[in-house]
Amino acid sequence: MSLWRYRDRLPVEPLVTLGEGDTPLIPAPRLSARTGAEVWLKFEGANPTGSFKDRGMTVAVSAAIREGAEAIICASTGNTAASAAAYAARAGLRGAVIVPEGKIATGKLAQALMHGARVVALRGNFDEALRLVRQLVDRHPISLVNSVNEFRIEGQKTAAFEVCDGLVDPPDALCIPVGNAGNITSWHKGFGEYGVAPQLHGFQAEGAAPLVHGAPVAQPETVASAIRIGNPARWEEAMGAITSSRGLIRAVSDAEILDAYRVLASEEGVFCEPASAASVAGLLKYGAEGRVVCVLTGHGLKDPTTALDQARSVIPCEPDLGSVEEAVMG
Ligand SMILES: *Cc1c(COP(=O)(O)O)cnc(C)c1O
Repeated sequence: MSLWRYRDRLPVEPLVTLGEGDTPLIPAPRLSARTGAEVWLKFEGANPTGSFKDRGMTVAVSAAIREGAEAIICASTGNTAASAAAYAARAGLRGAVIVPEGKIATGKLAQALMHGARVVALRGNFDEALRLVRQLVDRHPISLVNSVNEFRIEGQKTAAFEVCDGLVDPPDALCIPVGNAGNITSWHKGFGEYGVAPQLHGFQAEGAAPLVHGAPVAQPETVASAIRIGNPARWEEAMGAITSSRGLIRAVSDAEILDAYRVLASEEGVFCEPASAASVAGLLKYGAEGRVVCVLTGHGLKDPTTALDQARSVIPCEPDLGSVEEAVMG
């Protein structure tokens, strides 16, 4: 099973696929007890490259192949780069990714490099990278696979179909991290096509919250590198989705994000990356009622550095029974 079971709702044939979608929808009893809501986690970290970006990429790269493209390119905070690199490799296309230098998580960099993409580290931020690749594709026959590409939205909307098909009744609310705002746009489209209208609650990191402040942020900063974006490309659509669903756009601090990140891993057994935990941080801070789905956008293994910074340390031990006993039981 993959998201291609919704093929009749998608604009292309699956010319390149790695089995994306059909991710777990996990009940969250501890978070439910804490919030009084019925909380579910849509674990998008279970996609082939470990983030929801694969949903959009399988469709966007299939469309690029159909159009005869030989190369694809993207600007990325990391996960789009990892995903684009994998699908380019699979499809036999050249792939180039532009990332902010020193600002992407280790696992994502490893993926992009291993899949053989040309990885360009820009001495600038994501917003500058996206502006430059948009200019570049005007001059060269390269397909742009950022979420400004409509095919990305088409693929990503299938997450909303899966949630509705996976629950007896549709959710009352969705909590989702917002960066460039392609994903909240996609979920809104998916729910609309399904004929349901949950409240869409979008959460940004305090240091990168242009939609909350109503103005672009020149130097976005947050531990949640996947949403370190100061000028979202789908600004209007995101605000339209939030307003028309009677949802909210709110900020959460890095401390709140990291707290939710630890709670998810240690109490629910679900390891996501920091940006993903913004959805749960927002739920814990602002609350929501009824059946609530939190989107966990990427896998925790993407960013081992932040995990090890946050976790307790390992226990050193001599190789004898007494020491092991003390280390284990003590
Ligand atoms: C891309 C990404 C986001 C943000 O999604 P947008 O479509 O840019 O709003 C959030 N979390 C993770 C892990 C991501 O990779």
